[in-house]
Amino acid sequence: MERVKKFVEFLNLIGYDEVRVPEKTGELGMESFDPVSELKKVEEEAKSCCRCRLCKTRTNVVFGEGDPRTNLMFIGEAPGEQEDLQGRPFVGRAGQLLTRFLNLYGVSRDRVYITNVVKCRPPGNRNPAPDEIASCYPFLEKQIELISPKVILCLGAFAARTVLNLPEKTPISKIRGKEQKITVNGKEIVVIPTFHPAYLLRNRRGEPEFQKDLENALRIAGLI
Ligand code: SF4
Repeated sequence: MERVKKFVEFLNLIGYDEVRVPEKTGELGMESFDPVSELKKVEEEAKSCCRCRLCKTRTNVVFGEGDPRTNLMFIGEAPGEQEDLQGRPFVGRAGQLLTRFLNLYGVSRDRVYITNVVKCRPPGNRNPAPDEIASCYPFLEKQIELISPKVILCLGAFAARTVLNLPEKTPISKIRGKEQKITVNGKEIVVIPTFHPAYLLRNRRGEPEFQKDLENALRIAGLI
């Protein structure tokens, strides 16, 4: 592209005023940017990552799965035991509950994208530490950028605080259901914080509010 710019500058210099630099490489007939293969590259990088201590105790890196071209992205906290063993997000009891809720609306998991704030399991399912979240954040940032969904449903306080850059102690009860917006590469993405499905397993009373948030997200994404 740099060589093209220089050539155009040269043409302008010798009097060809109408010559312009193309905005996208596609206009030149060059290969266009493919977010899906870029996402694969980021996943490969994550698979060998040892940027924080969690790499020492993990079985598998749980990068994320689903439709990379979806309008709806789910972000949870961290892989649990089953996720660590299988290398897939939300496949334990909490994940099965999430899948059931999606199925209530006739939406299968492969139509959305599911990931977590940290990609490796914290031992004993403890909370991820701030430095672990910070080390892993570039992967999540890249996933959001490449998938570029219309809406992100943050499952639990850790995801909401990370995506919305909120203070460390912000409780989920204070922000749940409140639509917010972030701008990524000039595009506005709606972010809805809601309860983590693991919380619902312990507290069924949160289900109606969770369902309301899920339904809202599915509508914004155009999936229902
Ligand atoms: S949690 Fe993230 S930063 Fe830490 S080792 Fe795993 S992939 Fe790397």
